[in-house]
Amino acid sequence: MQHDHRTMEHPRICKPTQPSRTPHLTDYDTTVAQFSWSEAQAQLDGLPAGGGLNMAHEAVDRHVMNGRGQQTAIRWLGKHGERRALSYTELSRASNQFANALESLGVKPGERVFVLMGRLPELYVSVLGALKARCVVTPLFSAFGPEPIATRADLGDARVLVTTPELYQRKLRALRERLPGLRHVIVVGPAPTEDAGLHAWDALVAAASTQYTIAPTDPESTALLHFTSGTTGRPKGVLHAHAAVLAHAVTGRFALDLHDDDVFWCTADPGWVTGTSYGILAPLVCGVTNVVVEAEFDAQTWYGVLAGERVTVWYTAPTAIRMMMKLGTEALRGHDLSALRFMASVGEPLNPEAVVWGVQAFGLPFHDNWWQTETGGIMVSNFVSMDIKPGSMGKPLPGITAAIVRLEDGRVHLLEEPDMDGELALKAPWPSMMRGYLNEDARYRRCFVDGWYLTGDLARRDAEGYYWFVGRADDVIKSAGHLIGPFEVESALMEHPAVAEAGVIGIPDPVLGEMVKAFVALKPGFDAGEPLRRELLGHARKRLGAAVAPRQIDFRDNLPKTRSGKIMRRLLKARELGLPEGDLSTLESDEKK
Ligand code: ATP
Ligand code: MG
Repeated sequence: MQHDHRTMEHPRICKPTQPSRTPHLTDYDTTVAQFSWSEAQAQLDGLPAGGGLNMAHEAVDRHVMNGRGQQTAIRWLGKHGERRALSYTELSRASNQFANALESLGVKPGERVFVLMGRLPELYVSVLGALKARCVVTPLFSAFGPEPIATRADLGDARVLVTTPELYQRKLRALRERLPGLRHVIVVGPAPTEDAGLHAWDALVAAASTQYTIAPTDPESTALLHFTSGTTGRPKGVLHAHAAVLAHAVTGRFALDLHDDDVFWCTADPGWVTGTSYGILAPLVCGVTNVVVEAEFDAQTWYGVLAGERVTVWYTAPTAIRMMMKLGTEALRGHDLSALRFMASVGEPLNPEAVVWGVQAFGLPFHDNWWQTETGGIMVSNFVSMDIKPGSMGKPLPGITAAIVRLEDGRVHLLEEPDMDGELALKAPWPSMMRGYLNEDARYRRCFVDGWYLTGDLARRDAEGYYWFVGRADDVIKSAGHLIGPFEVESALMEHPAVAEAGVIGIPDPVLGEMVKAFVALKPGFDAGEPLRRELLGHARKRLGAAVAPRQIDFRDNLPKTRSGKIMRRLLKARELGLPEGDLSTLESDEKK
């Protein structure tokens, strides 16, 4: 059955033929035809004297060497109204100090440095400094409780951890015994106690030399260890090499259209891969001014940042967009957003309603793009010069070969016809492809079949080459012989003016196999009663047809989400069926029971 209401209902958003600023990618097909990763290498400098490739050199030092040291690299907005700006020169020196501090502690290349703190300037300095020292960096969400911290630090064999005195006291101190490999903890501020291996930033880092020469760095050496969001189960540790920085450079230009005079804001926390790849590396590699906001989401604060900092390029996520939509466009009144020229979204499917709302509210559409921790960078994207079909995640990055495939008898079969549902696969390798899952070799190898990396996500490609997200392979619902992607059902519900958020799952049913059930959070001012439930059931049936529409709708104040803001359908399902809830370490803490 054909249920592609997304394309039918939402007309494409056409891009001006004379854009206000010439994009890096002006014509998709031409760029795809001409692109090669080896030529793109020219966007990077490499370490002097053929010393290889180091992410931190590309992100920071080379701008200083190229005469752009005075430009602001990081503009930090503290949650109590403080402001701090670090030029590329200052960031280079500060990260040199951190690299020297690690060496003074005897920390060796390849050893793991974990960073556990809110979005403070020292987080950025630590990540870049540890990369310079050729250590492997893992940023963790500061909101994690002791258990998820201990699990990750143990799994990842953390040797050094950088944190704040307060987080040390509250979360880490009691864990030290369980983490014998964790030799050093550096606290940003005065050390709160005299514990062994505890160092105060001021004495250790701020006192270190600002001169540092990055040793030759093998592009294939490990730079980052990222844990996945844990939406579908226990988070996996994903390893990335310094070579990934080439993908950061290319996607920063093509997918986010970053120019070196841009003021860029990525709202993701570096505890999630977007916050590192696009909250630290890509913007700095592209030489922009990177706005860092310490405070958590609040619509008025965010609009204030966009206006006050004159942000030009903004990268955010569907949850935040849905929260803004809940408040309506009136909340934007009085904010001058005239500097904003490009908005993008990642992390979850972006409902067509949200794309269209962007135009109403900001005069610009949100550009959805797709990637995952394992891919290290944006792989499918709505490029600035390309028309948008709301609900589509766009087209593959130049240099990336994507396909819709089906696995049969252990072999990959390409589904060449348009509009076929199958698994999204990417031709291996590319520079930011993961180099391994931590301690899970077999699992890593299973991701690759016949030279393709299998993403675990289902999608379809239309006749014009646009990709449409269908759902995670694990979340797809099989009902009365139909394969139903939850996203499609959620998007149809989102079209109703009362609906702020929707999460859709399949629950076992003796007749249908699985029955589609929706959980809905309402916008303010709507009553969660029987009349509205019936209205929503009717609306969905009209939009999707009886076979695909939910049979049951439950109202919830909020839907359970990961720390990175993704709806956790597995948890909705576990709770609905009274099953064990499994690992909740990535759940938003206020949701935890
Ligand atoms: P885990 O692998 O631990 O279950 P996760 O998959 O949520 O967690 P991430 O790597 O942070 O961890 O998220 C990547 C996934 O998020 C993608 O595989 C996809 O399912 C979803 N995703 C990201 N961007 C989009 C998008 N634009 N449209 C649809 N889905 C997206
Ligand atoms: Mg995943």
